[in-house]
Amino acid sequence: MEGCIFCKIVDGSMSTERLFETDLVLGFKDIRPQAPVHLLIVPKRHVEKPDELKPDELADLFEASRQLADKFNVRDSGYRLLFNVGRHAGQEMDHVHLHLIGGKRSKSIY
Ligand code: AMP
Ligand code: ZN
Repeated sequence: MEGCIFCKIVDGSMSTERLFETDLVLGFKDIRPQAPVHLLIVPKRHVEKPDELKPDELADLFEASRQLADKFNVRDSGYRLLFNVGRHAGQEMDHVHLHLIGGKRSKSIY
């Protein structure tokens, strides 16, 4: 979608290290990390809410999270997988993104 930063990252017009990629999803580092490991995994299709994702995209998002947790050595220590959905959750970027946050103990979010 025009003007969407994550669409630009997906199509390569904005550069990032492509950490994990399938035909449907892309994983890259969050620009303002909140923990030693803070990655984002996005569907390549511009979708605004997680409930609009197709089964194949969901499968690839979780496969990406598994591979990236391995790659960044947080699979044993643990990590948080998080979607912020909408205004009350503080969603800043319209394009759906799954946060993978690890490398330190996360605070409770409640
Ligand atoms: P959310 O509040 O869930 O919408 O989170 C949006 C996330 O996107 C934040 O953690 C930002 O730091 C991150 N972000 C914004 N712009 C970029 C970018 N160009 N590259 C990587 N991460 C970004
Ligand atoms: Zn987009």
